[in-house]
Amino acid sequence: MPDHPEPPPPRARHFIQQIVDADNASGKFGGRVHTRFPPEPNGYLHIGHCKSICLNFGLAQEFGGTFNLRFDDTNPVKEEQEYVDAIKADVKWLGAAFDGGPNAGGLFFASDYFDQMYTWAEELVSKGKAYICDLSGDEMSKMRGDTKAPAQSPFRDRSVDENLRLLRAMRAGDFPNGAKTLRAKIDLASPNFTLRDPVMYRIVHAAHHNTGEKWCIYPMYDYAHCLEDAIEGITHSICTLEFRNNRPLYDWFLDSLGFDFPKRPQQIEFARLNLTYTVMSKRFLLSLVQQKLVTGWDDPRMPTITGLRRRGYTPESIRALCDDVGVTGQDSVIDVSRLENALRDHLNKTAPRFMAVLRPVRLIIENWPEGKVDELDAVNNPEDVARGLPPTTRKVPFTRDLFIEQDDFMETPAKKFFRLTPGQEVRLRWAYFVRCTGVEKDAAGNITAVRATYDPATRGGDAPPGPNGEPPRKVKGTIHWVSASHCKTAEVRLFDRLFKTPEPGAATGNYLDDLNPNSLEVIPLARIEPALAAEAKVEDRVQFERLGYFCVDQDTKPGALVFNRTVTLKDTWAREAAKE
Ligand code: ATP
Ligand code: MG
Repeated sequence: MPDHPEPPPPRARHFIQQIVDADNASGKFGGRVHTRFPPEPNGYLHIGHCKSICLNFGLAQEFGGTFNLRFDDTNPVKEEQEYVDAIKADVKWLGAAFDGGPNAGGLFFASDYFDQMYTWAEELVSKGKAYICDLSGDEMSKMRGDTKAPAQSPFRDRSVDENLRLLRAMRAGDFPNGAKTLRAKIDLASPNFTLRDPVMYRIVHAAHHNTGEKWCIYPMYDYAHCLEDAIEGITHSICTLEFRNNRPLYDWFLDSLGFDFPKRPQQIEFARLNLTYTVMSKRFLLSLVQQKLVTGWDDPRMPTITGLRRRGYTPESIRALCDDVGVTGQDSVIDVSRLENALRDHLNKTAPRFMAVLRPVRLIIENWPEGKVDELDAVNNPEDVARGLPPTTRKVPFTRDLFIEQDDFMETPAKKFFRLTPGQEVRLRWAYFVRCTGVEKDAAGNITAVRATYDPATRGGDAPPGPNGEPPRKVKGTIHWVSASHCKTAEVRLFDRLFKTPEPGAATGNYLDDLNPNSLEVIPLARIEPALAAEAKVEDRVQFERLGYFCVDQDTKPGALVFNRTVTLKDTWAREAAKE
């Protein structure tokens, strides 16, 4: 039986698919589709980047095209090899196969093009389209003006020869940081600020993770990016909306260097992914790490790919979210519960279920003989249709001494409390009906055990029909349990959202003011059923019945399992919001 028996309803093609359709129809790129994902290696990737990766890789897949992973590593100061390695692993994990498979374009580094970019910079100088400017950064911003036409740089009219000589001296290391820049000579009166003689190269005496000490001048984003795209033969250069104003500049450099279709890339902007309760900028995420407000980039509360992965997210669920939110040209904020729901949908079908008790209290079955063990059959995942029928099962040992969840018992029950309370009968999942007979307490009056009797006729979890064909007796509640003598212990980490407000920082301007102080609760001694303890490997994803989806954390050591709660079974935040 196929995984998804019903195909999803057809969906309108998004505006970038329509652009590619039109380009293919007109032959603008000779039928080629070549995309790239161009991260700067100055931090770990986050869920926002996933949208860009899925879009770019998805287009390559859909149109039989090619996808590159390219590091936009033009800034030596903030970039590190650690980030390069992590980004490669994250992109692969998400499923964008850049270095193998039918759409793989390969792995590239912008810094490998520094020689070519520099040659083109000399060409622009020779054409009178760029000049060396001695203004400081501050002077330049002032002179670029605000809304009125700005003052002209006193260096704008240097001769081509002088500009070439100075550019070569800049490259040779004759000047300190900030002493000079190479600027494009475009239009100081343009209403579009990016065209007001933008900087192309600046002096930075710093070692680069790839080129070492070779360069002391580095290209700026706007100059570098269009050329990186052109060198790689990118057709559709997709970026986020804040680059819309930069598009004329992207085109100006390509025009000035004589690039023409079909061997010229075009920039297309789309809306970035924003999520509620989440900060997404690498700068903010880095400061959470540096200030030790999280345990690292891979803290399961982080919206980084590595954090989501450690939390238990699947690549399928992240891709499903990106697909679900679609591609538009209008910025919006997506409710983080949509990400959580995408994960529930996937894990509901794929994660095997087990029983675990987080906060145990002992349940003694009075009429069960001491030492007797009944091996009951428990279904692994009733939703797992992919594995065919009948569903697979495992054995769960049932004994006289069990553990149940403390809050599944109330001595004085609240209204509509259908779980265990004196006199009431409940179903123990996969096992028997039990009726509560009382409690045991210590001298201080704390409950030390709950007592019950079981009905042997309900083995498997259902009552038989009455002797005269009456309908079987029903119970209102089902609770989970483990055998006290067979269960194993595990540490369980329960996470909540890292921020307690939908738009962190909205009220005070500082997102740290909205950190949720209770985003992590550690349960040192949860009890889990023996079959799970025997099988669990790091990154395995399971459901603990009634408690949520969990995955095995990398901190697990032999004999010391650690689980992360990935997500609860239902959206508890929605439930809380509904109560208010
Ligand atoms: P941040 O602002 O989080 O530091 P960035 O845009 O500086 O991110 P880059 O490494 O430059 O990070 O981004 C690589 C690619 O990912 C770019 O094409 C960028 O437009 C895209 N991208 C970044 N954030 C998002 C987002 N939230 N949604 C969609 N695409 C994004
Ligand atoms: Mg950036």
